[in-house]
Amino acid sequence: MSDKRQAVGREKEDPLNSVKSKRTLGLEQDITRRDFLNSTLLASGGALLSSMSPAQLLAQKVENKNSFTDDWTGYGGVGDYANSNGNTTAVFEAGHRIRDGEFETAPSNFVDTGEMYDCVIVGGGISGLAAALIFQRKAGEGKTCLVLDNHPVFGGEAKRNEFLVDGRRLLAHQGSALFQVNYPHSFIERFYQSIGLKTPRLQYQKWGSSDPEVALPTTPYLGSAPYGLYFGAKFGQPKGVWVTDPWGKKLEGAPLSAKVREELLRTQLPSAAQAPEYRGDAISRRLDTITLEDHLMEKYQISRETVRTFLTPDEGSAFGLGPDALSGYTAYAFDAFGPTLDDENQMFPDGNSGIARLIVKTMIPDAIGGQHSLEDVCRNSINFTALDRPGTGARIRLESTAVWVKHEGDPAKSQFVTIFYARGGKLYQVRARSIVMAGGSWTTKHIVRDLPQDRKEAYAQFYRSPCMIANVAVRNWRFLYKMGISGAQWYEGFGTYLQLRKLALCGTDVTIIGPDSPVVITLKVVYSRPGHSTEEQGHMGRAEMISTPFREYERQIRQQLTDMFARTGFDASRDIAGIILNRWGHAYASPAPGFYFGKDGKPAPGDVLRGAPFGRVAFANVDLTGMPDHKSSIIEANRAVGQLLDQVLS
Ligand SMILES: Cc1cc2nc3c(=O)[nH]c(=O)nc-3n(C[C@H](O)[C@H](O)[C@H](O)COP(=O)(O)OP(=O)(O)OC[C@H]3O[C@@H](n4cnc5c(N)ncnc54)[C@H](O)[C@@H]3O)c2cc1C
Repeated sequence: MSDKRQAVGREKEDPLNSVKSKRTLGLEQDITRRDFLNSTLLASGGALLSSMSPAQLLAQKVENKNSFTDDWTGYGGVGDYANSNGNTTAVFEAGHRIRDGEFETAPSNFVDTGEMYDCVIVGGGISGLAAALIFQRKAGEGKTCLVLDNHPVFGGEAKRNEFLVDGRRLLAHQGSALFQVNYPHSFIERFYQSIGLKTPRLQYQKWGSSDPEVALPTTPYLGSAPYGLYFGAKFGQPKGVWVTDPWGKKLEGAPLSAKVREELLRTQLPSAAQAPEYRGDAISRRLDTITLEDHLMEKYQISRETVRTFLTPDEGSAFGLGPDALSGYTAYAFDAFGPTLDDENQMFPDGNSGIARLIVKTMIPDAIGGQHSLEDVCRNSINFTALDRPGTGARIRLESTAVWVKHEGDPAKSQFVTIFYARGGKLYQVRARSIVMAGGSWTTKHIVRDLPQDRKEAYAQFYRSPCMIANVAVRNWRFLYKMGISGAQWYEGFGTYLQLRKLALCGTDVTIIGPDSPVVITLKVVYSRPGHSTEEQGHMGRAEMISTPFREYERQIRQQLTDMFARTGFDASRDIAGIILNRWGHAYASPAPGFYFGKDGKPAPGDVLRGAPFGRVAFANVDLTGMPDHKSSIIEANRAVGQLLDQVLS
């Protein structure tokens, strides 16, 4: 927050309404965004943050619904996902009705659909979709399942944005981005094969410019491609200083003290600290008793301040918060998946949206037009009417928020579960012989009304934190190319890094890339608030995200890119072709110390939920393992469906 406040505070006049600001930043430009301004919120965004609780902020948002709903959600792009960019206003409002206790007692005013399914799956992200497909396959002929998801499009965090820029179609991810090539006989590789991902090593765009080539990776994360560090006002550099090839040049020219420079250089060297050999060994258990911040200080012999200022964007960002809020074991949690076949990460042009679409095409063949090929699934549109067709074995019902789930009578003897869901202002009832809760801890703990105490206590140890993915379509990226870089990292203002990537060829019209190609720049915002508890950091971040209208974030984005790149020719007014914000209120599972192996002699909370179903209810979703990767989503779906088939359904 403090960084963002500084950015806003640099201007003396009202930054959104000053004529100078509008002109230089291009706020008046006709770009691909909706432009319904709500003057009250725009003027008071900062004040709201400091004086109101998240509940009050959302209440105010709901009251003003008609005047600025669209101004908050903002422009959603074109194509299938035009109305489904992140958690839209409607999704937030439905979720908060649950949190605020509106459905504590069984609803009396509802539409009974009369439907009874063998399995209902709450949550249509990769976990819920995988659960439905696995159920369809394993339960056999005649068994039925229904997926309920609260968004206008399935996929959860694995969705896409689509822009049309000067006639060219550009795709980007809304959240979940990359995947790996796994061992051929592994469970995940066989799952990929079964959904039609037969050649997980994808083909990518080639360099297609007469200018000398600058390396581009396949994903939007900083790595081996050349990038620069930017130091601005926070480092006493109001005009900004760039250090390109920072590690090669040993941070020469960076406005840092000798001590900080030395500490940062140490983080680039191999460390003598021992890493865990396997999940659960003595080293990993010890790491789970301390914070990631303490671990990094110990590992590199660096100060807390250096961790907070410089390592937060890297080290905690796969878990949504800064290192002081996370378990030390998060540094190694992904290792538990084991090795992959090669080091290069793979990514569809729209991220793991491609995997969600492949699952749906496999389960409901006419849900996406064309053949069961990567190309067709990426390129063709969703046939929404095919998703929820009476008489079919597997159905997906969108814009449907499950608000109440309970066994009929004693969970140990009950024959079915009743589910109420909210859709279009009405409540509906369905029944199921079994249910997979794949929506995530933050809703499951509220809506399973007869959840026993041990599962409640387990879910109380799950923290989810917000994240916003801002996709900015630009007409060219010469402003980066001129510095010889394709990525950048910075430590103040909006976002913390960007990395251009070459796109996989499935679903893209353009097979080459160069500095004059239009591209989508992805800016990720995590809301870490060092010094506060994991839970508080999540609440504070959501409060900021909820209270900031689209237009204010747009201004911050334009300001940030202008501050950093105007010197190499970037002109926000000319170069920005479109902006889409994807706000995820509960994006990441943020494991605090004790999450992985339990505290005070108690089992790890994830193990409590994974160990056995509760009555007819099994639990899935990425958050159960503390490894935020779509592989967890699929593995947990497989385990949950297996438990229902082995132990519940007769
Ligand atoms: C910014 C970001 C980047 C990421 N990058 C990667 C990456 O590069 N690679 C990778 O493998 N993983 C990545 N992940 C991890 C990601 O969480 C998983 O890959 C995966 O997409 C999670 O799928 P899921 O189904 O488990 O959960 P989700 O995607 O969260 O799906 C749950 C769905 O259930 C819905 N839901 C919840 N409650 C209800 C209810 N009561 N009624 C109806 N619907 C409900 C939710 O709204 C959502 O649509 C990233 C995550 C984030 C946030």
